[in-house]
Amino acid sequence: MPEHRIRPHHLLCMAQFAGKGYDQRFARNMAEVKAALERGDSLRIRFACDDLCACCPHHSTAGCALGEGDVAEKDARAAHMLGVAADDAVQWEQVRKRMAALPPGSVERACQSCQWLALGCCGDEVLRRYAQGQSENA
Ligand code: SF4
Ligand code: SF4
Repeated sequence: MPEHRIRPHHLLCMAQFAGKGYDQRFARNMAEVKAALERGDSLRIRFACDDLCACCPHHSTAGCALGEGDVAEKDARAAHMLGVAADDAVQWEQVRKRMAALPPGSVERACQSCQWLALGCCGDEVLRRYAQGQSENA
């Protein structure tokens, strides 16, 4: 079974993903990775560029062009919230259950400065619909 390298805040991104992304390549890759995880592929937590960053137009050898500091803070908050640590091997279903149990305000706290949050693409309600199995986009 393939193993995907995923940074913590991307767990939240994938759960709320509805087809939009930085460009077509990025969105297609995210859809494929999410579908693979939902089918049972395993994932390993990594606090660095991951399998989603690999297809992102903001990714370079120096890291994330949108700001390494901001991304690291988002990862730290998401990891704490979802109870994952560096190098953990977890199943998507475990993560989904943890997301379903998050208290109100969790997405806003974890993501803060993200443009997709401001655009209304993400938020507690979007995450709740997916994590509790009501998403039309899953
Ligand atoms: S608000 Fe941004 S960082 Fe947070 S889940 Fe959505 S896309 Fe990801
Ligand atoms: S390179 Fe930056 S913007 Fe692109 S997916 Fe990775 S963390 Fe997100």
